[in-house]
Amino acid sequence: MGEIMDRTKVMLRDLKISEVTKPTTVYVWDMDETLILLKSLLDGTYAAPFSGLKDKKRGIEIGKQWENLILKVCDEYFFYEEIEDYNEPLLDALSEYDDGRDLSKYNFNNDGFGFPYDDLNKRKLAYRHRSIKEKYSQGLHKILDQQTIKLWTDLYNLTDSYSDGWLSSAHDLLKQTFGRTDKGPGSISINVLVTSGSLIPSLAKCLLYRLDDVISADHVYSSWEVGKLRCFSWIKERYGGPNVKFCAIGDGKEECEAAQAMRWPFIKMDLRPTSPYRFPGLTMKVVQSFIDVAYGSSDAEVEEIKEACSTEAKLVHLTLNQLDASLPNMRTLIS
Ligand SMILES: [Mg+2]
Repeated sequence: MGEIMDRTKVMLRDLKISEVTKPTTVYVWDMDETLILLKSLLDGTYAAPFSGLKDKKRGIEIGKQWENLILKVCDEYFFYEEIEDYNEPLLDALSEYDDGRDLSKYNFNNDGFGFPYDDLNKRKLAYRHRSIKEKYSQGLHKILDQQTIKLWTDLYNLTDSYSDGWLSSAHDLLKQTFGRTDKGPGSISINVLVTSGSLIPSLAKCLLYRLDDVISADHVYSSWEVGKLRCFSWIKERYGGPNVKFCAIGDGKEECEAAQAMRWPFIKMDLRPTSPYRFPGLTMKVVQSFIDVAYGSSDAEVEEIKEACSTEAKLVHLTLNQLDASLPNMRTLIS
């Protein structure tokens, strides 16, 4: 595990975006029971607070269908059976082993990938990660057959309707993070996902729950071995700068404690239907208010203050000019 941490740290140092000068907000999302629903459908905790208004059995059936579909994508397209014992915290973690060879004719079925986990096998895993990354950027419509696409579309719509729009509202909010105008045209928003699930199924989930247009493959972190706090500190190292604000959003104790340790604002998701910290319900305004409390005034407020200061400065300037103009008179009086 120490090796994973050292290697990932070096890789992130190489990835680090050049010193961020534009105002940037990094939203650090948990996945399950935050952006998507899965476990709570399977164990009935999603339906429970509705006091019988939600059909718990239906939720369980929906959850099972998701599990099957996630596994199908993992096994058939993401080499999961072969690589599940070699979890890495993110897809680029092995990039130093990738020699960039053309993989279009590479035979993944016959390259002898497996034990021991030495440099040669790390290279073969890095090839698989690159192939997964390419498939992720293409999207599932390019790789799934028509029958599976129909099954997937129906399941997404069924889940969204069962949950009163949890999935589509979460997606809308992530989209809004990119379209913020109150922070000025030069501002940057970055959505990062940190999940305690293993990496490959988490990427499959991002695609299946249609989050791939708002979260890129290299922004998905698996905290499975290293814990959320370690992932959060990598994220801070990768994006940190004087103009960068972070906000973590999740339903678990681990991300809550990690956010506290990082001194980031944290929004605790809550499945209860009356809570504002769920989907639908959570809005950009609420998220921004958490950021404002943690970091002080929002950029929009700073602009207002600047505007007010500049008006005040103009007044002072005007008063000085008036004083200047009256000075000769005063001199006349004095002389
Ligand atoms: Mg969660």
